[in-house]
Amino acid sequence: MQVNDRVKEIIKRLKEEYPNARIVLSYTNPLNLLVAVILSAQCTDKKVNEVTQELFKKYKDVYDYANMPLEELEKDIRSTGFYRNKAKNIKGAANMIIDEFGGEVPSTMEEITKLPGVARKTANVVLGNAFGVVEGIAVDTHVKRLAGRLGISRHKDPGKIERDLMDIVSKDGWFNLTYLLIEHGRAICDAKKPKCDACVLNDICPSSFKV
Ligand code: SF4
Repeated sequence: MQVNDRVKEIIKRLKEEYPNARIVLSYTNPLNLLVAVILSAQCTDKKVNEVTQELFKKYKDVYDYANMPLEELEKDIRSTGFYRNKAKNIKGAANMIIDEFGGEVPSTMEEITKLPGVARKTANVVLGNAFGVVEGIAVDTHVKRLAGRLGISRHKDPGKIERDLMDIVSKDGWFNLTYLLIEHGRAICDAKKPKCDACVLNDICPSSFKV
């Protein structure tokens, strides 16, 4: 089977398996989502949701993040790990949103990736979910692993993996693809112990029973 046909079949089967695949992070507006995605680096979505449940009550808008002493913000997000860097990025992003974007999270790839701590993965997640703007494919650790195992990309660099996926998958499938691969990565294609015997892709996956 050609790679294009294989990818179409992969997507079809994953859609049947995970008809409700979607973002797991809780948020009510673009700023909340931006903060949640920054916090999710090296942290589980479950932990982030626990932390943001309180955080979003205390920090209601971009000015709250900008005006809060850095140490207090660090304390409030500490349990998500790498909290110093995350707090610095959140405050830096809040300041830039106020100074350069009129207090609103920007809704284009070019603008949002100017914010500190916002690379393409974060940008794709925020743009797609908060604004319905799809300019690429969010490549997280699950997407990266599965793209390799499924023989869709040979690259290790997320930017190059994203490019490969964008070349093969039609644009109307970009947004959903991330969440299909994340669901499958979590449920079946585990990093250490993939359950190939229970996988709906095992007859078309080049890594089946080999990883
Ligand atoms: S067959 Fe195995 S390696 Fe391939 S996607 Fe399924 S679980 Fe992952």
